[in-house]
Amino acid sequence: VTMQENRPVVLNEPYEDSRFNPAVDMETGYRTKSILCIPVTSEHGEMLGAYQALNKQGEDGDCAFDEKDVKRLSLVAVFGAKTLESYLLHNKAFFDQLTGLKNRSGLYEAFHTRILSGQKKTYSIVMGDIDYFKKVNDTYGHECGDKILILVADTIRSHIRPEDCICRWGGEEILLLINGTETVATALAEKIRASIEQACVTEEGTEVSVTMTFGVASYIPGFKINKLIQLADNNLYIGKNNGKNQVVS
Ligand code: GH3
Ligand code: MG
Ligand code: MG
Repeated sequence: VTMQENRPVVLNEPYEDSRFNPAVDMETGYRTKSILCIPVTSEHGEMLGAYQALNKQGEDGDCAFDEKDVKRLSLVAVFGAKTLESYLLHNKAFFDQLTGLKNRSGLYEAFHTRILSGQKKTYSIVMGDIDYFKKVNDTYGHECGDKILILVADTIRSHIRPEDCICRWGGEEILLLINGTETVATALAEKIRASIEQACVTEEGTEVSVTMTFGVASYIPGFKINKLIQLADNNLYIGKNNGKNQVVS
């Protein structure tokens, strides 16, 4: 009701009120005595959720919420809304909405916080690109292409370590920031390449799979990250010209 009607709701006798659902109490053994719900909205009035307070602990065991509580806790809900809104904005700004991978801004942020501020400067860039992806879209449709992108993202995610970072660099291009030498990054890219080759999505009864080509470049003192990305990209194109579905370092 709070969210539908965008207004605070107080239930001081929840068990007497048909809007209260006692299922959670029955499951947990917790006894709900009073509820105060306040809508949480964004700056533009978009409904984000609801703030809920339960079982006020007043004097003499009084647990009824009053008008003053509504006013005070509305302020808390405003802080909650601000925190939530900035989290959501951060998420939109740094993550790709289709695959959940970081986008370019997310990659640069990770690079600055993890690599540049860290002691260890050894890192590698792996640039991957799906082979013949246009053909997948043309043959099975754009939605199937999207499913493949999600599959590729999940497959890569399952291989990388927490200290590494994956980014959707462009349409069907994935960039990995690997905390390690060229040897480590190349071996990892080869593992990923082999498991992508094995993975598939099912589209109207047909198994659709793709392959990927990768280029690797590693930290060279004095080289900025963008220069390494360019080197990885050059290696990727060597792989594309050599028949695709391979790792070039
Ligand atoms: P190559 O093997 O040389 O990499 O060829 P390719 O077909 O993969 O490369 P090309 O650059 O010709 O085509 C890339 C395709 O990726 C075209 C574009 O429609 C598709 N694409 C880019 N972003 C998305 C997306 O978000 N969803 C879907 N379904 N397709 C996308
Ligand atoms: Mg491609
Ligand atoms: Mg491409």
